[in-house]
Amino acid sequence: MLISIIIPIYNEEENIPLLMTEFKKVFLALPNYQAEFIFVDDGSTDNSGKIIKDLAETDPAIKYLELSRNFGKEIATTAGFNFATGEAVIMIDADLQHPPRLIPEFLKKWEAGAEVVIGIKTSNKGHNFIQRFCSYLFYKFINTVANIKIVPHAADFRLLDKKVVIEFNRFTEKTRMTRALINWLGFKRDFVYFDAEERRSGKAKYSFFKLLHLAMSSFVALSILPLRLAGYLGLFTIFIFGSFGFYIFLGKYFFHTQFASSFSGTAQLAILLIFLVGVILSCLGLIALYIANVHNEVTNRPLYVIRNKKI
Ligand code: UDP
Ligand code: MG
Repeated sequence: MLISIIIPIYNEEENIPLLMTEFKKVFLALPNYQAEFIFVDDGSTDNSGKIIKDLAETDPAIKYLELSRNFGKEIATTAGFNFATGEAVIMIDADLQHPPRLIPEFLKKWEAGAEVVIGIKTSNKGHNFIQRFCSYLFYKFINTVANIKIVPHAADFRLLDKKVVIEFNRFTEKTRMTRALINWLGFKRDFVYFDAEERRSGKAKYSFFKLLHLAMSSFVALSILPLRLAGYLGLFTIFIFGSFGFYIFLGKYFFHTQFASSFSGTAQLAILLIFLVGVILSCLGLIALYIANVHNEVTNRPLYVIRNKKI
């Protein structure tokens, strides 16, 4: 049975040979499975591209997609999914933070009926306190506001059954977070727990700002709460200041109560103005809903561009 392994690569020249040795070891012990290794070179600027090509020349199991520039890991992984032909597809990081020796466990769970097998990190050696705290906040926040739930500490080390990959390939959105989309798909899930090792060599490509950007954009992609908020604030303002203004108006000109009469012309004007701000905000909220709709529909740019490939 053919298993596809998808490895997004961005400047991992030292890790690629190490990774391949590990893969070979793993699959030697699994005679019932053949593997195809799809390296997706996500615009690496080091020697990674050349190393992959050299490997691919000597080994028919090694395939590659070379993207025309850096598109980001999420897109690179998607490109891999698009070209995978295995009965199951495994996505794995190249830096050996996802130990390949766990692949048999993923396969076992798949054989037992799971359609999505998710790697869960039980520790995070490479991450400091602040990174852990940020990741905690991110999951807490996104699971509160978004309508797709994300399992905390779930890694991008995953196995998907062919069925799931076919469905995954139907997604067209540009701003994507693979994990969230896979969760959205549903299917029968199981988990493999592992200790995340420190990255073997090279630097983590996700700087604080890149991560912040990813967090913000997946927040925006997964939820339109910020858009709706303006509308709700507007409705709230209309309600409070509308009724207050009405109360003052009646009190002043019809019932002549002392309380209402104590409001100066300026104060009444202020109430009227805030009421109108409420009207504007709620209109903004309404427009936002249309924008959200457009945002959902306008997705026609190609996801990635391939310069070279061997598939
Ligand atoms: N990666 C990629 N494109 C990018 C950044 C990263 O393909 O723009 C790959 C990288 O080569 C590695 C994986 O994504 O295989 C995870 O990257 P990294 O180790 O930097 O992320 P972290 O472990 O910090 O989540
Ligand atoms: Mg890493």
